[in-house]
Amino acid sequence: MRALCLTATGGSPHLAVMDVAPPVLREPTEVRIGIRAAALNHLDLWVAHAAPGVPVPAFPHIVGSDGAGVVLEVGAAVNHVRPGDRVLINPGVSCGTCEPCSAGEEVFCRRFGILGEHRPGTAALEVVVPGSNVAPIRGEWSWPEAAAFTLSTLTAWRMLTTRARLARSEQVLIWGIGGGAAVAALQVARHHGARAAVTSSSDRKLARARELGAELGVNHEATADVAGVVKQHFGSGVHVVVDSVGAPTWQRSLKALRPGGRLVTCGSTGGAAVELDLRRLFWFQWSLLGSTMGTSREFAQIVALGNAGQLRPPVDAVYSLADAADAYRRLAGGEQFGKLVLEVAP
Ligand code: ZN
Repeated sequence: MRALCLTATGGSPHLAVMDVAPPVLREPTEVRIGIRAAALNHLDLWVAHAAPGVPVPAFPHIVGSDGAGVVLEVGAAVNHVRPGDRVLINPGVSCGTCEPCSAGEEVFCRRFGILGEHRPGTAALEVVVPGSNVAPIRGEWSWPEAAAFTLSTLTAWRMLTTRARLARSEQVLIWGIGGGAAVAALQVARHHGARAAVTSSSDRKLARARELGAELGVNHEATADVAGVVKQHFGSGVHVVVDSVGAPTWQRSLKALRPGGRLVTCGSTGGAAVELDLRRLFWFQWSLLGSTMGTSREFAQIVALGNAGQLRPPVDAVYSLADAADAYRRLAGGEQFGKLVLEVAP
């Protein structure tokens, strides 16, 4: 079958569309899906460059964490979908039997892995995943929208609901609007009735964010004191900061927090090591929260909202598999607003 593969470490020059053996069902709990579209995440860049902490895969390695398509085959133990169903895929795969998995805390499974990182990815004509990782699509979705939905939305949902417990009328600051997780965080924040400020180095992206409900856009390159502008707008620091940039923004994120505020992170695209003055942490009683991916319960929650049309990802551009290197370059350059999608099959 056709698949987009990495043939070596070192980034998009090592991407190739190849003919590889199709996957087969090995467990009665699995499903085989004919992929229509796959979507890129920053994780795909980490995998392509073998970033620290990311396992070096066996080559050729099929890339892509996000995907959507049509069920081709189900194992005997799968009841909630059947061949012909359109489905979304949850890229986070867990063992399903350990103590965290049994408690519905799959993100703490010691065997937790992500499609395209620890397992063959979604940028292929077919993929096999546990049945618990797929959910039927209802209503009107384009294939790019469906493919682009899960990883960003699930990550943002867990960050802001389960972890940061963002409440109606609270204020949130989101760094780097344009990236998939940041855009999804804005959508989730607005869904919860929170007031959102966003930052970008691009005025074009700030304008797009205002269309999605951001009430304040700050150009963080043109503005020396981002925290000051945010405090001036809201009359105080914010309740929640979403900072997945890391080192370049960390101090400004803390400065923007109000006493008792929560900082939540799901990434460190700008650098992973930061400094923390513990006196400020305890004096202001801040909470520093990590978050990654989401549980099956959270997946069900976002799918319900997606199917109801209440959360849908903006799609920046759609590329053919043959042009995937261009999509990787656009992602690496941070040029996109929303998701970059690969069309796998018509
Ligand atoms: Zn487990």
